[in-house]
Amino acid sequence: MIEATLSEWKKWYAENRADECTVIGRKDEEFDDNEVFKRLWNVQDGKPPEGGEAFNSKAWRKRGVIPAPGLVIVTGPGHSPLILTNEARKHAFNAGQNAKKGSRKNGGKTDSDGNKQQDKKPASRALNKPYNWRCRDCGEMFEANQPEIHCHSKPRQRADVSPDSTKWFNDFLEQVEWTYIPHHEISNGLVGVVEDKEADAVAKKAGESLAQILNETEMAPPKFFDMYNQMTNYIRVSDLKEHSKFKRVIHNIAKWRKTERKAMKNSPLGMIEIGHAFDEFLTETFENINSEEWVRGQRVRFDCEELGVSVGGTPDLNFQGVPVETKTLRVFPHEVPEDNNQKSIFKYKWKRNYSKQAALYLQGVENEYMLLLLISRESGAFTVVPVNDEAMEGMRENWVVWAKKYKKQLDAYKQLISEEE
Ligand SMILES: [Zn+2]
Repeated sequence: MIEATLSEWKKWYAENRADECTVIGRKDEEFDDNEVFKRLWNVQDGKPPEGGEAFNSKAWRKRGVIPAPGLVIVTGPGHSPLILTNEARKHAFNAGQNAKKGSRKNGGKTDSDGNKQQDKKPASRALNKPYNWRCRDCGEMFEANQPEIHCHSKPRQRADVSPDSTKWFNDFLEQVEWTYIPHHEISNGLVGVVEDKEADAVAKKAGESLAQILNETEMAPPKFFDMYNQMTNYIRVSDLKEHSKFKRVIHNIAKWRKTERKAMKNSPLGMIEIGHAFDEFLTETFENINSEEWVRGQRVRFDCEELGVSVGGTPDLNFQGVPVETKTLRVFPHEVPEDNNQKSIFKYKWKRNYSKQAALYLQGVENEYMLLLLISRESGAFTVVPVNDEAMEGMRENWVVWAKKYKKQLDAYKQLISEEE
């Protein structure tokens, strides 16, 4: 990937380096996730691919605080930074420099109307009206220009899967072998992994059963996928995992609750779209499973005493009474032994995301463990890991700190919730 929107670069960073990241640009800059950036390759990143640009000077004016002029830097704890720029930012910097020098210089091509040309394919595409929606209550799909209330609530917006991603799915489905791999090689030493014969037997049974079902099922590329909208009215299970996410939500939620939801006009392309579409593909596949052992997951609620809020979420599935949460990843570390980075990425995701999500869901059910179903989007290999709530302890410690730090915002949120009831 050489050029993409900031939102896609953040996802790229999560996939390839660290789950949580910070974007640093001009002082106090608020970023638009749709701004398009090009990546620059510094010495650590190695040789840039064809069409990529090398960067051999200092990336920071002040390390970790102020990037060099014209740059935007994505960083994450313990991982190397991602250096981004675009013509507009370079241009703004050059214009400033040149104004000082009293000369004029222009970067980039200009078309006959005097507008900057976009040479590369866009990383997102415009959606056509009427937009697609799905009711959160009854599940019906419908078309409308705005999010019109269906049953009792505002619907979820959907986008049709682009021709390029449909082709990706066709190629994937043509060569996929759904292969169950026992979890021990992958899960060894990770937080929350249950070492118990009975749990292991359930995990193995789930894995083998799923391999059979998936390989026997006739599959087609998904036609639509649910679009992601960060605006939420309620704190969710997923908001309690990471400080940066919680901070963003608790700072904005009062504002979001007052903001009228509008239709999103653009939809992502490339791996981001494939990731969303893959989730949709699995959901549809699982919904069509005709089995008494596999059923749809049930909504769980959890009262977080430290923060004084109640959160809800729904695991994807349930196997023989055990909740199952699905996570897709590009590849398993053992599938690419030459790429050492994948091992640390996987460990990081496990610790910061998977183990925490399982621990939180387990607070809302009677079960002592649940199953994590991890699926490779490149090969179709998957594993099933029994996980307990060992990750709770660390989270509780964090919540005590957050409760103090964001007391004002939390009180305001609780007030809004109580007025609603
Ligand atoms: Zn409805």
